[in-house]
Amino acid sequence: MNQYAQRVFDDLKRKDASQPEFLQAVEEVFSSIRIILDQHPEYEKMAILERLTEPERIIQFKVPWMDDRGQMHVNRGYRVQYSSVLGPYKGGLRFHPAVSLGMMKFLAFEQIFKNALTTLPIGGGKGGSDFDPKGKSDTEIMRFCQSFMTELARHIGPDVDVPAGDMGVGAREIGYLYGQYRRLKGVSESGVLTGKGLGYGGSLARKEATGYGLIYFVLEMMKQHGIDPQGQRAIISGSGNVAIYAAEKAQANGIQVIAMSDSRGYLVDEQLDLSVVKQIKEQLRGSLEQYPAMAGHGRWHAGSVYDAELEADLAMPCGTQNEIDAVRAARLIDHGVRLVAEGANMPDNNEAIALYLQNGVLFAPGKAANAGGVATSALEMSQNSMRLFWTFEEVDDKLRGIMISIHRQCEEAMRQYDLDPKNYVAAANIAGVQKVIDAMIAMGDY
Ligand code: NDP
Repeated sequence: MNQYAQRVFDDLKRKDASQPEFLQAVEEVFSSIRIILDQHPEYEKMAILERLTEPERIIQFKVPWMDDRGQMHVNRGYRVQYSSVLGPYKGGLRFHPAVSLGMMKFLAFEQIFKNALTTLPIGGGKGGSDFDPKGKSDTEIMRFCQSFMTELARHIGPDVDVPAGDMGVGAREIGYLYGQYRRLKGVSESGVLTGKGLGYGGSLARKEATGYGLIYFVLEMMKQHGIDPQGQRAIISGSGNVAIYAAEKAQANGIQVIAMSDSRGYLVDEQLDLSVVKQIKEQLRGSLEQYPAMAGHGRWHAGSVYDAELEADLAMPCGTQNEIDAVRAARLIDHGVRLVAEGANMPDNNEAIALYLQNGVLFAPGKAANAGGVATSALEMSQNSMRLFWTFEEVDDKLRGIMISIHRQCEEAMRQYDLDPKNYVAAANIAGVQKVIDAMIAMGDY
């Protein structure tokens, strides 16, 4: 970190001491853009880093709702409208008991640069609630979503702020949220939310987009570094939306997925049957613990998949943040992992990333590798504005094109700044951040 970045970071550490995930995300970005800060000493006088790290607006609100027994509950709702420099705020909603303001800020901060890398006209935001959807009935989920949207509706709009899903928010929740928005506004502004059902303005391939996009990016990395995907052994953590479709596209390209996980433990299976995983997660909303009995093969273990002694070539963490620390990263490297690509947001901590780079592991950060989801959300917005639908193949082709373009932007940054060609983290941060800074300066007052 250069002196200017260090001063701004120290100031944030003082002001936001209770937001460790946010500080971690800022530290990663600041450390890797040193080269552009050194080339532009004038940025300090323009307070560029202060302007980048201060959210434009934070909304926090009360979400009261009634359970099926008539008991009232109150959860906390958030929307962080971080940066509208490149377009309407865009980023998902997360429903998870660990949601806090610091988590929302880290996710929204990451989202700004990820969205910049897609080259689509979208700013950065994120929101959610500490509501736990696990074990709730459909009617409880509906009442919660309606209450959440009753407040959120006044802050969003197709040209203002366009939320989508994230952990705990899938097609069911987006349907209830959109239904309440329509009822409150009395208009069919389908472009206000993305990840909608196909019957009311959703896009084909949105569900698959983050996972498929991750694999398109990994395939580009492999091509660039002379690795044949056929027969590569992969660990994919998580078994939610991102993990399932990453596994599907990986298998379609000859990559062998040997393990997946969820919040309760992990599954090891050399003959992984993804249709059983989908049935458990998408229909039964259960745990992978049920898999061995249903599939007739595979072994279930409690704990983290990253504490297991598994020989693999690739790791694609697609579960949640900070799944991999230095100890777990060292274990992956010892067991043969040579490529790590993040499907989740910030699943590796900064010590783990440093270890990958020291050991010559190819590493793709989430803001480049998982940008396919938000990119396809922006394609959904385009279809809503044009009032037409593209076919699955049309959307998938555009998604692949965007992921290849993000890889190309990383390569260009590596060439321009003479970076380590395995260091996609610096390349992605430099390419994304520079776009936002250029637009801020061009518009004068941001
Ligand atoms: P889901 O809620 O669909 O899936 C999350 C998965 O992670 C589940 O399998 C869950 O287990 C598992 N998980 C949750 N907590 C833990 C934990 N502490 N340890 C191990 N596993 C855990 O979310 P998504 O797939 O949508 O999102 C996953 C990640 O990808 C998040 O970081 C999200 O921000 C990021 N992302 C998502 C995008 C999208 O389009 N959905 C776009 C870009 C990034 P269980 O099934 O038991 O709950």
